[in-house]
Amino acid sequence: MKNVKSAVCIACGAEYEATPNITTCPKCGGILDIQYDYEYIRSQLTPEQLKARSDHSMWRYREFLPVEGASKVPKLRVGWSPFYEADRLAEMIGIKKLYIKDDGINPTGSLKDRASAMAVVKAEEAGVDTIACSSTGNAASSLAGNAAAAGFKTVIFVPERAPKGKVAQLMMFGATVISVKGTYEETFRLSADAISRWGWYNRNAAINPYLMEGKKTVSFEIAEQLDFKMTDYVAVSVGDGCTISGVWKGFKDLYAAGFIDKLPRLVSVQAEGCCPLNRSIAEGKDWEPMEENTIADSIAVGVPRNPDKALNAIRESNGIVVNVSDEEIYESMRLLGRTSGVFAEPAGATGTAGVKKAVLQGLIPKDATVVSLVTGSGLKDVANAIKAAGEPIAIAPDMNLLLEAFEKMNLK
Ligand SMILES: *Cc1c(COP(=O)(O)O)cnc(C)c1O
Ligand SMILES: [Zn+2]
Repeated sequence: MKNVKSAVCIACGAEYEATPNITTCPKCGGILDIQYDYEYIRSQLTPEQLKARSDHSMWRYREFLPVEGASKVPKLRVGWSPFYEADRLAEMIGIKKLYIKDDGINPTGSLKDRASAMAVVKAEEAGVDTIACSSTGNAASSLAGNAAAAGFKTVIFVPERAPKGKVAQLMMFGATVISVKGTYEETFRLSADAISRWGWYNRNAAINPYLMEGKKTVSFEIAEQLDFKMTDYVAVSVGDGCTISGVWKGFKDLYAAGFIDKLPRLVSVQAEGCCPLNRSIAEGKDWEPMEENTIADSIAVGVPRNPDKALNAIRESNGIVVNVSDEEIYESMRLLGRTSGVFAEPAGATGTAGVKKAVLQGLIPKDATVVSLVTGSGLKDVANAIKAAGEPIAIAPDMNLLLEAFEKMNLK
């Protein structure tokens, strides 16, 4: 990989060769970060060449990705998700310009597909046949789908609270699924022990530094879809912190390679009932574990696995932190659906809930331009969608009853 220099530990600075199955730092256990040669990348690719490409998937950015030249990329089409000017929603929120990047449109319905597609490529390079992970749902379902398309076996650990839609995906994609009667933290620990015992390829995002490199492609797309003229803010919902770290890495890559001349400020949005990272920033203290009290299961992470990279990303970007209630998340789901036709799962709508709240509180000025990242599809969690949107009008098949019902609703 001529574009990749090394893998550097973010805790102790030790530097390693970026082999396909590196995990955390052998010296101190810190998380590794893949480093690039931006001069080389710049000599290989210009924004104009990029714009002319016909590959509408995350692999159009191959020069910026840690994959061997000879590696085949997976067949499942991941990335190049839609990017909408959400003018009606912007007006309701009271902000100049709002864009929605809908990553719920990926093949298995979440942004996690970007990381899982990368995991599949690296597992192939590492020469293994089984990939494993633990997840609150989307990392698992995306791994199962991407692995199925590429012919790998998967072993998946989910906490028992994972929504049915996500578990259904796992079963449909043929994964071996272990539903753990415990928290996400306990699930994660069991999976880590099993992975080291059986030597499977590890798709746990904070452990495997390549996954963030897959996730960062969402920022490449946002920048390209904005014609490389960045907005003032980019809002992201945060659980483990791998997504927001990946988003930041993508913008930094583009900046370092001269593709954009301005970096956006990150808006880190967590649930009030589970916001260890935002609390750490707000109070200027080390992060501490919290309970997992929110309906947004994908970000109900009381012990984040990637706290340092995420906190660095928020601070480096001069970012802001916002916590939203479950009620505000439900409201945001309705707003996205009713103003924009975008159906988000709770964690998928959390970023937008944060934008609305930050504008109300004056944290984001009204004349700002903002991208809100929708990270997952609402079809994964129908129970919460119904809670947010309500039940339909139920009547017997009778015109008089229909008229009555319409009358009650002032519809007619
Ligand atoms: C995983 C996930 C997030 C948060 O990503 P982290 O890396 O855990 O911070 C947000 N939304 C959805 C839908 C997710 O699946
Ligand atoms: Zn180290």
